[in-house]
Amino acid sequence: MRIAMVGSGYVGLVSGACFAEFGPSVTCVDVSEARIECLRRGEMPIYEPGLDELVGKGLRSGRLTFTTDLATAVAAADAVFIAVGTPSRRGDGHADLRYVEAAAADIARHLTGYTVVITKSTVPVGTGRRVAEIIRTTNPDADFDVVSNPEFLREGSAIGDFMRPDRVVIGAESPRAAAMMRDVYRPLYLLDTPMVVTTLETAELTKYAANAFLATKITFINEMADLCEKVGANVQDVARAMGLDGRIGRTFLHAGPGFGGSCFPKDTVALVRTAQEYGTPARLVETVVQVNDTRKGAMASRVIHACGGSVRGKTIGILGVSFKPNTDDMRAAPSLSIIPALQDAGATIRAYDPAAMNEAAPLLPDVLWCQHAYEVATDCDAVVLITEWNEFRALDLDQLGSVMRSRVLVDLRNVYRPQEAVAHGFSYTGIGRGHHA
Ligand code: NAD
Repeated sequence: MRIAMVGSGYVGLVSGACFAEFGPSVTCVDVSEARIECLRRGEMPIYEPGLDELVGKGLRSGRLTFTTDLATAVAAADAVFIAVGTPSRRGDGHADLRYVEAAAADIARHLTGYTVVITKSTVPVGTGRRVAEIIRTTNPDADFDVVSNPEFLREGSAIGDFMRPDRVVIGAESPRAAAMMRDVYRPLYLLDTPMVVTTLETAELTKYAANAFLATKITFINEMADLCEKVGANVQDVARAMGLDGRIGRTFLHAGPGFGGSCFPKDTVALVRTAQEYGTPARLVETVVQVNDTRKGAMASRVIHACGGSVRGKTIGILGVSFKPNTDDMRAAPSLSIIPALQDAGATIRAYDPAAMNEAAPLLPDVLWCQHAYEVATDCDAVVLITEWNEFRALDLDQLGSVMRSRVLVDLRNVYRPQEAVAHGFSYTGIGRGHHA
């Protein structure tokens, strides 16, 4: 079994390295020479825990290779995965399929022998059939099947998610293609991982439905948090008590600054567009998108309010800028709306993130980047915790406060207990913890 992985980003690189660990030979392809050169040297172009060890192991075993030469990789492969980006199209929010379509045409030209072409990228319903049409038009002699195999891994725990997924979803139209996919995922079959083998359309829609549902859960608890603040309740207790109901479940019930990241924002909008196109508007998801956008915008006002109504001439320290811990991914991170809004309101920003500062610096101009949390806090009028990295979970609040100009803590992830912060002399603002909480 030989696999070609077209696109070596968060999904392609992790999937490729994991497949190589399972046994097959995997060639990861990318258009970026710099990325491939870096990977050949065993250096990681992204931050993902455990990835450097896994890639190193794959390189040493000879089962994992990196190239920009798509032609050779595809010609040798039994299974070709498309794992390129599908960002939001400017203007209408529909998934931009230009990278998928370009990859499909490129792949088509180099197919030899029976090959399964698999879309792992998150793509709207109908894309699998469009990919098949592109391949057929570009290379009428090609012997191939198209399969949809959406990926559910999470950045920050991507390897574990890939190796021990809750399920694998496969949209395959022919028994031959389904058999090849079972082969590709054989080690997971042996672990009794549930496999949902279904149609192309069902597999494609499943990915969007799952992401929209999780985004809805987050948005729901965020609205409950706002209500908690008004009525004096504690959203963390509400979430825990709700989540202990097996029908609801405890995950994705953490109130915060609104969801960001490389998937939920673009996938919810893309689902809304698809539903509108088919004349069955997904009104619930439309509302989730609007509520979340408004929420991200409102977070800067929360900081300004905590600072007494104005941040003009004040210095604000930011802890964490990536969209979540354990990743350097800045795509649609809440920090990208909060920090510029505070700067527009006249604040000077100091910030630190354990992994994302290289990615963040070009996106967030005029920020003074620091080396640790206490350096961030120095001479600050307030510190704002945006991303709950582990190293921000047990800060010495006395030490933090001692270097600040005034002890104001805005904790957008509810990492600290209000009483604890107050005991250290802080004025504390969390999320969804009202005056009785
Ligand atoms: P990414 O931007 O990190 O990586 C995409 C890579 O594809 C880039 O390195 C780019 O250079 C390369 N590329 C683009 N066109 C190419 C071509 N024609 N040939 C070869 N390489 C090409 O994107 P990502 O985060 O890995 O996401 C990929 C897809 O997976 C998206 O559809 C995304 O929605 C989906 N997805 C992402 C995650 C996640 O957590 N990041 C999780 C599940 C699904």
